[in-house]
Amino acid sequence: MFERRTTKQISVGKVLVGGGAPITVQSMTTTKTADVEGTLQQIYALAAAGCDIVRCTCNEQEAAEGLAQIVPRSPIPIIADIHHQYKMALAAMEAGVHGLRLNPGNIRKPDHIKAVASEARDRNLAIRIGVNGGSLDPALYEKYGGLTAAAMVESAMQEIAYFHEVDFNLIKISVKASNVPLMVEAYRMLADTTDIPLHLGVTEAGPPPAGLIKATAGISTLLLEGIGDTIRYSLTADPVEEARAGRQLLEALGLRERKNVDLIACPSCGRAEIDVIDVANRAMKAFEDKKLPLQIAVMGCVVNGPGEAREADLGIAAGNKRGHLFVKGRNVAVVPEREMVEALVEWAEFINEHGTDAAIARADTALAEREAARDRSQLMDEKGDDANHSAEKIVEIRKTINN
Ligand code: SF4
Repeated sequence: MFERRTTKQISVGKVLVGGGAPITVQSMTTTKTADVEGTLQQIYALAAAGCDIVRCTCNEQEAAEGLAQIVPRSPIPIIADIHHQYKMALAAMEAGVHGLRLNPGNIRKPDHIKAVASEARDRNLAIRIGVNGGSLDPALYEKYGGLTAAAMVESAMQEIAYFHEVDFNLIKISVKASNVPLMVEAYRMLADTTDIPLHLGVTEAGPPPAGLIKATAGISTLLLEGIGDTIRYSLTADPVEEARAGRQLLEALGLRERKNVDLIACPSCGRAEIDVIDVANRAMKAFEDKKLPLQIAVMGCVVNGPGEAREADLGIAAGNKRGHLFVKGRNVAVVPEREMVEALVEWAEFINEHGTDAAIARADTALAEREAARDRSQLMDEKGDDANHSAEKIVEIRKTINN
């Protein structure tokens, strides 16, 4: 495992950030905050998808009043997002939020910044200094001749200086940009400058899949260097996708305990006996909301599938219109092809409750292995070693070229 950078610890409601606490996933609601029921519905969906902390905009009085009703009913801590009006920050604190996000590019009067920080200090609330490449203070933009990592870091440091003037220290920082190398450079620079916890993100990453790739490139590069205490995917998509992506990234990097299925699937090839993409997608859908911390494999053929996915807790491989189920590489059952996904769900739930040993013990492994061996050898007879007929094609290509 890679070493994580040592940072100060703060809390956002009951959730700890920094100082060795598990890295947290954040997202932001897209509803009008004044729409209390709609916003709460989205917050519950986000929490179910793995979101630890949620941000809601507080851009008008109605939003602040909405927050007063949302906060006591929310299952996770709420951060108010403040851009231009410092009074909205004061109103959000009055509403009971667990933290604030201030954009230093948008609230620039020192008195306003200090008024907010003093109030947060008295209420023991954390503030994220959310520097955003797109809304950098024009004075810094000019000083650095454009948007640079150093300009973003200086913006954050200026804000910290105002906070320190009023003895406020419950801070986290983000220096997000939509340009991945720039964002990575800015966070690295910041990590060398301060031990304040960092919130990672690639801003305005865009719609998936490109947005997911950009955000993952930036966030995981830094996480693998030990930098980052909390993360957000800023996708042009349903925020539930952001929460899922954040959670999946942390699980994939081994930074959070696995709670959800890790679905692996072969890329398919000429040997595939089923439409692997379709079965894998249906399996992903079936497991989407099930909290099963298992690795599950969908493999296109019984010739190579069980061997290639022998490390998976559970898997299924197709052959002769049948699905061959295997647990830790051992064949355990054969089901009709159309029941493959249902069988996976049933076995996964059993394994989650009783473990893989019990699943192997309840199976007739000898019979399942015989059936798999039969289908495997039949497929080998039909398709041979070279299912894609590459060798035959090469002979034909050579003939074509040499004639
Ligand atoms: S050999 Fe079988 S398991 Fe491997 S990619 Fe092809 S279909 Fe999938």
